[in-house]
Amino acid sequence: MKITHVETYPVRVPLKPVRQMRSRLGQHRVSEFLLVRIGTDRGIEGVGEATTTPNWSGETCWTAQAIIRHVLAPLLLGQDPRQVESLAARMDRACVGNPFAKAALEMALWDIVGQAEQKPVYQLLGGPAREKTFRCRFSLGAYEPDRAAEVAAERVAAGFDTIKIKVGADSLDLERVRAVREAVGPQVTLTVDANGGWELEQALAQLPALLDLGVALVEQPTPRGDDYALRAVQQAIPVPVMADEGCFTLTDARRLLRGECCRLLCVYPGKNAGLLSACAIATAAQEHQVPCSVGSNLELDVATAAMAHLVVAHPNLQVEQYPGDVLGPEYHEFPVVENPVRIEGPCVTVPEGPGLGVQVDWARVQQAAIEP
Ligand SMILES: [Mg+2]
Repeated sequence: MKITHVETYPVRVPLKPVRQMRSRLGQHRVSEFLLVRIGTDRGIEGVGEATTTPNWSGETCWTAQAIIRHVLAPLLLGQDPRQVESLAARMDRACVGNPFAKAALEMALWDIVGQAEQKPVYQLLGGPAREKTFRCRFSLGAYEPDRAAEVAAERVAAGFDTIKIKVGADSLDLERVRAVREAVGPQVTLTVDANGGWELEQALAQLPALLDLGVALVEQPTPRGDDYALRAVQQAIPVPVMADEGCFTLTDARRLLRGECCRLLCVYPGKNAGLLSACAIATAAQEHQVPCSVGSNLELDVATAAMAHLVVAHPNLQVEQYPGDVLGPEYHEFPVVENPVRIEGPCVTVPEGPGLGVQVDWARVQQAAIEP
């Protein structure tokens, strides 16, 4: 089997007004992402998604489109799509960074392999390591405290038992977390995600009051790359610190693990440049007895499916204890697939069809298409 063509489709999908995200990284009101389609001489097509945001990985749908067209796709044309590992390594050698663009192509390769072998991607990654339906936490924007409390209570009523609150965006962190705690009661697990928005001194000053409110996990309190600060926070508090922005690559993960900078790593295929790399990071963490959870860039259904396959396949994606974010489609106004990933309240079910198990609705993609 040979790859015959690689096509890219920039799309714009608005978020539901009630789900618009606010964090240290700013407002997320509309998603401008890139879908990819890889064709083969056997008629099998694979799809992928580059979940691009410039303040997260430095990528946009346009940079992803350009790097794919001019650098990555030429490496794939004429190759056997079943050689996922060597093709991913080739893409890595040809281009540093651009993880979401690489992940989109790698995802599409897995989709092709799964269809060729009539197996879901989680089977290709080693088979199920947990239930095929798993619980997620709800990720709550850094809203005004009253609104945060209202949305949190509504989400708990919808079945969520873990709420992640965005902090580090303004001076209302303590008020916001307190309002949420009062609204949801003592049983609900609260975690915070500062998206690197606190300097070390600020984190050390802020966290005791938040921990008094029962915050059970602190995600990326300090800026990405500042391993010293992350380690200092982890040493100062009794609850786990999770690295997210600080853990894009296997090298990042090794540095954090060897330095004992945190007690949890956040992984997902887009950020980590593909499923193989996400699995390699989760395995490295396992060797250090560090569990992983799954993070999100508010994916559409294609990348959400890839995340679900990762969670189900890797034993160290310990979402039972540390629920992750695999709910991107719920935040968006409409799906770009014919068969959306099943999401019911906090529960996500991995698609069972061959490959990623989602069929892109190309008419919908055409309607959502954008021009540079
Ligand atoms: Mg995060």
